[in-house]
Amino acid sequence: MPESSSKPVLVTCGLPYANGKAHIGHLRTYVPADIFARSLRKEGRDVTFVCGSDTHGTPIVVNAEELGITPKELVEIYHKHFDETFKQLGVYFDAFGTTDDPENHNRTLNIVNRLIEKDYVYPKNIEIAYCPKCNRFLPDRYVEGSCPHCGETARGDECDQGCGKHLEPGELQSPVCTICGGPAEYRQQEHFFFKLSKFSDYLMDYLSNDLGGTTNAINYALGWVKQGLTDWCITRNLEWGVKFPGHDDLVVYVWVDAPIGYIAFTEEWAAKAGDSWEKYWKNDGEIVHFIGGDITYHHCIFWPAMLKGADYSVPTAVVASGMVKIEDKKFSKTRGYVVWVGEDYLDHGFHPDLLRYYLASYTSHTKELNFSWHVLQEKINTELVAVFGNFLYRTMLFAFKNYGEVPAGELEPEVKEEIGKTLKEIKAAMAEYEFKKAVDCAMTLASFGNTYFQSHEPWSLIKKDRAACGNVLYNCLHLAKALCIIFEPVIPQTMEIAWKELGQEEDLHTALYSEALVPLKAGTKLAKPEILFTKLEDDRIGEMEEIANERVKAADAKKAAAKRNGKEPAKSEGMGPAEEAKPAENAGDAANAKEEEGKEILPLIEYEDFAKLDIRVGKVLLAEPIKKSKKLLRVEVDIGEEKPRQLVAGMASFYSPEELVGKYVIVLANLKPAKLCGVESNGMMLAADDGGEIVSALMPDKEIKPGSRIR
Ligand SMILES: [Zn+2]
Ligand SMILES: [Zn+2]
Repeated sequence: MPESSSKPVLVTCGLPYANGKAHIGHLRTYVPADIFARSLRKEGRDVTFVCGSDTHGTPIVVNAEELGITPKELVEIYHKHFDETFKQLGVYFDAFGTTDDPENHNRTLNIVNRLIEKDYVYPKNIEIAYCPKCNRFLPDRYVEGSCPHCGETARGDECDQGCGKHLEPGELQSPVCTICGGPAEYRQQEHFFFKLSKFSDYLMDYLSNDLGGTTNAINYALGWVKQGLTDWCITRNLEWGVKFPGHDDLVVYVWVDAPIGYIAFTEEWAAKAGDSWEKYWKNDGEIVHFIGGDITYHHCIFWPAMLKGADYSVPTAVVASGMVKIEDKKFSKTRGYVVWVGEDYLDHGFHPDLLRYYLASYTSHTKELNFSWHVLQEKINTELVAVFGNFLYRTMLFAFKNYGEVPAGELEPEVKEEIGKTLKEIKAAMAEYEFKKAVDCAMTLASFGNTYFQSHEPWSLIKKDRAACGNVLYNCLHLAKALCIIFEPVIPQTMEIAWKELGQEEDLHTALYSEALVPLKAGTKLAKPEILFTKLEDDRIGEMEEIANERVKAADAKKAAAKRNGKEPAKSEGMGPAEEAKPAENAGDAANAKEEEGKEILPLIEYEDFAKLDIRVGKVLLAEPIKKSKKLLRVEVDIGEEKPRQLVAGMASFYSPEELVGKYVIVLANLKPAKLCGVESNGMMLAADDGGEIVSALMPDKEIKPGSRIR
């Protein structure tokens, strides 16, 4: 977002799906969004931060049916859970509603009616899966079958185990009812379509020129528009949801009313605060959506088209986070690679701020984040404890013991300059959604504080010159105050304590960044400081690792049992982070086979056999996702030929395109061409594969001319 803008800003987070508990994957989006909102407030911007539970869609209906409760009862449980969890984590929304709130029903009807009026919605007879035994239509997850594109097992609206394509009703082949397991048939029924195709030119222009945010989201979306957009069926045969106007047997597709929740929650906030929701949705206020990368399509294509069609303001930025790994394994609830925010973290007495710090500072927002107990321990102990905590404690304790109040002194130009520089860098980093960079800058200022304290040796100065020592402490205490303001967006609860110990009476949460440069008042009473960050000891971390290991073992056993019974464990979905990367689950089975295969060394071969392989060094010039596939990347490699080679590499789950471009890789150059997902591959990029968990591209140790042979 432009740093100079002074417009009001609405910040939103992808809605958690009210069908399961909060895990660290969720927080990857919510914590940075909260940091961003808090930071904008510190810049003096007018900020509204809203979110809510996504409550509609078939998974909730299916799950509620299985539990023998109503969908409403089910979503109430999880809505309350998310609301409480976010508050515990210090993620404070100005409104946290649900998509079943009357505000959302009304707003959805308003928008759908407007789209109908403007001729953007049309009826069409389509084939809908119907179970004659259960006597009902089977939307989305109520039906399974094989994907018309790749043949894999797929569900009604998405080829979730194969090519990842969105499926329109009626496309699935050999449909089976998921309620009774019997064969389903197709019956003609009238449904309603949104003319998404009409918005191609508009979206091309909007994505290229207007939409801000992270480039990963924008580039993906541009790629999809270039490939052509098809109209979306926006009605479903369900009871639970927002009724489609004039048709009581139909509700709107969950991806229609879920994002409209952003508007409804803004309305809920505005009613409470006596403010205006129109300043965002009908005017030129900024709208910044924080989402998980897997729902980019909905937020960068479907959503702005719908808003534009219904004459609402469109998002100004979409900020998409990278995926989350657990202990270097692909996130998967069914495989046990999950860390629950409640039972695995808060319930064990870990401070919420430590997790916030970890999530913000581990890596840049668009990259893959690995959660590891061991790394958490290391980061907390070497950064928060050894650097920042150390500075705060030694400064405040020394001042408290020797002066009891802020001693007289003057802010040194050197200190003032360092704070000013930090503020500038943080503002710039936040404007680019580089939260790690912002936290690193803040930590550098804490380091500066330590050096300042250390080099002025107040412990010996106090014996010689009490006034000079007072001046050193004055500057250290001022730095401590500045650091409280600067770190508040990241670790708000801890900073609140330090702030009070420094005798500050103003509310830290509303204190502006600029106040970090206002000289501290001498004579302010100090409180006895407490140690704010304590080391995470080995035994505590070891205990958590043990719990994690047990969970994986239990999941393996459960999976094996489910397999024997021929039943897959239940999955969930929604607007929150990708709950299950489907290919990974498949990879689970494939991995076992591959692991078996990997154990045995293959029979001996002659050198001539090896010599038949033409293996070369290549430089990756281009890498991009292939739309039809979640696993494949199209790669162009310079292997010393006139033109670059086009390859298809199965690495999309392990490398982002940006990570590969510019790298030197190893290519099998004389493999027969093959077509994968419609794209020709002329060779093969070589990689090490441990059976599906980690795939690591082979790269030469030194930079070497493209085309160099491997022998
Ligand atoms: Zn498919
Ligand atoms: Zn049935």
